[in-house]
Amino acid sequence: MWHWFWLCMTFALGLAVGSFLNVCIWRMPRDESVVRPPSHCPACDARLRARDLVPVFSFLLQGRKCRYCKAPISWRYAVVELTTAVAFLGLYLVDGAGAPLLFDALLVAALIAIFAIDLEHYIIPHELNYFLMFTGVAREVYGRLATGQWSHPVHLLGIPVPASVVGIALGVAVFAGIGWLGQLAFRQESMGGGDLRLAAGIGAHLGWLGLTASVVLAVVAGAVVGVGLIATGLRKRREYIPFGPFIVLGALAVVYAGQWVVPGFLALYGFHPENVPIRSWP
Ligand SMILES: [Zn+2]
Repeated sequence: MWHWFWLCMTFALGLAVGSFLNVCIWRMPRDESVVRPPSHCPACDARLRARDLVPVFSFLLQGRKCRYCKAPISWRYAVVELTTAVAFLGLYLVDGAGAPLLFDALLVAALIAIFAIDLEHYIIPHELNYFLMFTGVAREVYGRLATGQWSHPVHLLGIPVPASVVGIALGVAVFAGIGWLGQLAFRQESMGGGDLRLAAGIGAHLGWLGLTASVVLAVVAGAVVGVGLIATGLRKRREYIPFGPFIVLGALAVVYAGQWVVPGFLALYGFHPENVPIRSWP
């Protein structure tokens, strides 16, 4: 009985959060506030009312057109809302109800917005990356307060360092290194500062091991898709393909299937640890 209640709750919450993510996806790359002014049609500027803002339903009932000026509404709005709803429902199935579900929902919501914005505009808004770093550290501090100890600290010179801090440091170090090598090899910027901050944000939530698995999956997926796009003539050799969406997909794979993916990945290198931490907490 409670199971069905939580299934419906997470789906409905996902629709509502997805609706807000649509605001972020449109406004953040345009440097507009996500709070003010209230939602309006980008074509005719008409202020949207409550009945125009019901996720998915308004979109379908109005025939995918603005009620006031009949300008077509992008499919992206309904796709983002439904994707977020299904993603939140999946998190409930992975995490159950509780604090881990809340922190994973914050992580996944930001990842969905970053995916959509980087794909279209080739930028990752810093506020989303800092949001990930902040909520990632907050998640581990919450775990420390709730359980009385850090979940998976890394001992440096005998001092336990929280996993989220190690994850942030690793993200910065690896992507600064890749950027430096790219400068040397190609004499052009290969990784933006957005990718570096995104890696740090994912490291804060997933710790050093979860971040490493995310980046390896991203590189593999990026290479496959990149070669595919060039082979089919959709992209030219030196044309820019944003890397952010691939890091997002890698991180999502770790969030939803990390308990299978990460031990399998480690087994390739001959490691068979008993406890594989794929979050900074729990
Ligand atoms: Zn309109």
